[in-house]
Amino acid sequence: FERFKAGLSKTQSTLVGRVDSLLRGRTAIDADLIEELEEILITADLGMQTTQQLIDSLESSRTKGELASSEQVRQLLMEELTKILSFDSKPLDVTSASPFVIMVIGVNGVGKTTTIGKLANQFALQGKKVILGAGDTFRAAAAEQLQVWGERADVEVISHTEGADPSAVAFDAAKAAVARKADILLLDTAGRLHTKVNLMAELKKMRRVLDREIPGAPHEVLLVLDATTGQNALTQAKLFNEAVDLDGIVLTKLDGTAKGGIVVAIAAELQVPVRFVGIGEQLDDLRPFDAEMFVSVLFD
Ligand code: GDP
Repeated sequence: FERFKAGLSKTQSTLVGRVDSLLRGRTAIDADLIEELEEILITADLGMQTTQQLIDSLESSRTKGELASSEQVRQLLMEELTKILSFDSKPLDVTSASPFVIMVIGVNGVGKTTTIGKLANQFALQGKKVILGAGDTFRAAAAEQLQVWGERADVEVISHTEGADPSAVAFDAAKAAVARKADILLLDTAGRLHTKVNLMAELKKMRRVLDREIPGAPHEVLLVLDATTGQNALTQAKLFNEAVDLDGIVLTKLDGTAKGGIVVAIAAELQVPVRFVGIGEQLDDLRPFDAEMFVSVLFD
């Protein structure tokens, strides 16, 4: 909890810190105050749509005379944020298939490899047999980096040479996962968004190959996004979601940004669950995302 709180401290001060200083000493909750709140929510990267939703709900409570104190404003904000973040979705259950295949996608630099390494480590610590597939054959460094993470977590990495067909890696990794009776296959993919059409076609092909080798796979297509990029992360999420149907999102680098409000914007606008959040560079700095915990840490 403390580490999580430290990771969210920048977002906490730009969002809740500013809300609190606005509310401090106010006795009347009037339309002006709601307007000032709106500005804070937008600045904190909650996005237009989510901000509007929150403001509408505050305004409707206010006109009904239900917002008599600043504490009630705070309470309502917490409730609404939790509601937005905990829409109906099945939690990630990696025991629902064996091997459970997770395809990890996202633009270069967002923290994809690091996230795969952290996940591999966590699953391995839970006693699961994990295999990594180095599906980003475009950058030689990507496979090397994954190898390092693989060694750290003591799990096998399937990789090909630079420039190889990523679908061939997907094929070999799937074969290996079945042959070794792995519990989990984590497949890395390329992230060069400047060749968007090719990338999306490549991801679709990898999907098909996986499904042919392991029916139903990939069981989870996980998009990694960098929280420090704010609204840009939301744009990326929409783009990938149109092309490959996301199952879940990982938001990295929350520790380095005041733009953590983007978690809410992404969940609300895409209706894709945030599965994990990254709060640092260490192995255990990837945490399962929980709406209530997130909101209570922010408003603590
Ligand atoms: P990739 O290109 O998407 O595979 O990105 P990398 O995994 O190589 O990560 C890029 C940089 O982001 C590295 O320096 C990581 O240590 C850093 N990084 C990844 N996740 C986090 C996080 O949650 N917090 C912080 N502070 N840094 C992170």
